Amino acid sequence: MACPLCKNRSLSSYHRDNRREYIQCQMCRLIFVPSQYFLTETDEKARYDLHQNNPLDVRYRQFLGRLFHPMIERMKPKSYGLDFGAGPGPTLSVMFEEVGHTVVLYDPYFAYNPDVWNDRYDFITATEVLEHLKNPKEDLERLWGCLKQNGYLGIMTKRALEPSRFRSWHYKDDETHICFFSHFTFKWLAKSWNAPLVFCGDDVVIFAKN
Ligand SMILES: [Zn+2]
Repeated sequence: MACPLCKNRSLSSYHRDNRREYIQCQMCRLIFVPSQYFLTETDEKARYDLHQNNPLDVRYRQFLGRLFHPMIERMKPKSYGLDFGAGPGPTLSVMFEEVGHTVVLYDPYFAYNPDVWNDRYDFITATEVLEHLKNPKEDLERLWGCLKQNGYLGIMTKRALEPSRFRSWHYKDDETHICFFSHFTFKWLAKSWNAPLVFCGDDVVIFAKN
């Protein structure tokens, strides 16, 4: 077994509960669930179908605002973006379009548009997506490759804290959540990309591409 983010094979057991085990990479410190515990695609999609997100939901907009506001502060007018993992009720893209940007969507289940990978973007967002990735190295490298110079990659995912708090962390109990990034892991990724990184609150990071 290798780390799905950095491919390092130096791994250690991080936690085990009555359903799954959690492994930590010693290099990038990603915490991940081994593939034998992954849900089938049918079961995974059934879980996502339960997400009742929609653009009219004020509380959902406030939640997304934690990424939306720091992104638009940085972006040029009329920027062109990709929302990766848009889900069943795309809302962040609507918010960007309301302030003059253009956004295309990609989602393996709800917006399967492989043509999006042929284009290049001023900004890319992934909200509540990284924790679901089976192949984070491949997915993140593909996103980074599609980002234009001077572009921004904005990510929202809850960050893993110290081991004593992981045990009671509800975020790990969702069986579609298989990758947990920490502060250290994002710093490791920024270093590997040679990219400035900003942490905005507890669950948002923004990478800049120089
Ligand atoms: Zn790793």
